[in-house]
Amino acid sequence: MWALLWLLPLAWALVLAGYAKRLIALWREPAWRCPVLVIESDDWGAGVLPQAAALDALRALLGRHRDHTGRCPVMALGIVLAIADTGAIRAAAGREYLYIALDDARLTPVLAALRAGITEGVFAPQLHGMEHYWPAAVMAAAQTDKRVAAWLAGDALPRTEDLPAPLQSRWTAAAVLPSLPLSIPEINAAAADETAAFQRIFGITAQVAVPPTFVWSDAVERAWAAHGVRCIVTPGTRHEYRDAQGRPAGDGRNILNGERGQDDVLYVVRDQYFEPALGHRAEQGLAALAQQTACARPTLLETHRFNFLGESADAALHEVDRLLGKACAAYPALRFLPTQEIAAAMARRDAELIETGLHPRLRAWLARIHTVPRFAKLARLTGLALPLWLLTKWTA
Ligand SMILES: [Zn+2]
Repeated sequence: MWALLWLLPLAWALVLAGYAKRLIALWREPAWRCPVLVIESDDWGAGVLPQAAALDALRALLGRHRDHTGRCPVMALGIVLAIADTGAIRAAAGREYLYIALDDARLTPVLAALRAGITEGVFAPQLHGMEHYWPAAVMAAAQTDKRVAAWLAGDALPRTEDLPAPLQSRWTAAAVLPSLPLSIPEINAAAADETAAFQRIFGITAQVAVPPTFVWSDAVERAWAAHGVRCIVTPGTRHEYRDAQGRPAGDGRNILNGERGQDDVLYVVRDQYFEPALGHRAEQGLAALAQQTACARPTLLETHRFNFLGESADAALHEVDRLLGKACAAYPALRFLPTQEIAAAMARRDAELIETGLHPRLRAWLARIHTVPRFAKLARLTGLALPLWLLTKWTA
């Protein structure tokens, strides 16, 4: 029995070797010195007018909270810059795609509400896309899908959330499934158009992009980077198309904070969810903040526009308010930073925010490796958990 003990280090070595690539990547991922929270909210912009009141309510709410540096929480808003002009498309008998841009007079209340929050420093606009779909794919789908035809011929300002899910992806042609890739010239032209529209409407270059439904490609990264995008928000992996069942699909790769894509764009990871309309309460947001902070990662909380429109709006605002209040109380060192500043701090390894010391980095790494699927279980089964636990005690 005891003679077999020498096998243990061999088993540990095998486990560590099997996960070496992932473990090394986790070591390289920047470790944050303080808890960081940003609420990332997508789908705002060109679309229904009740957004204006929802944005005003959020602006007032965010302005009531402060971190210890005196800064208000920033909501990073994934902005959609245009929506189908259903009336004009109908007038053209559905033969031509036409759109209403966010700076059209018909959307004045929405743009005014966005600008008020940007001026007050509580909203940070991020590029979500010219549209939340690939227009040619929606037009093609309308030929065969009655729901899509009704969407294009329906409300004056339709909701993209009502499109079939595969069509809500912008950077793949999902009129058929599995979806088809777009050509490089199509991607380049669309990226040039949307970044120019963002610049025109907000007077700033879009530096952070959030791919709709997290479907994008190397070609999209290069096209965005050519027009000033420096950071891409990811869910910790990349999807490149919609599969035969319409689900987002990709190569299954893992993406960590601070890793780089094409032309040096920096990835940030947003894999924590806070959708009050789906039942998430402030406590879930706090649990995400606790987990991310233990791993010395910033907390990017994903929440969508739909939470703040309609019947769920008041309850959603209440949960955001509770979350921010409780977060400030529980974490005196908490920082509210917009995603763009989080990315910039990681890019330049800002010593004020990013750890350089061995102990805290090791502590973060030990917390992170427990989140690797199956690794923690294998560590327990082989007894590797014991030396890792001793290491944790040493860093504490
Ligand atoms: Zn979206």
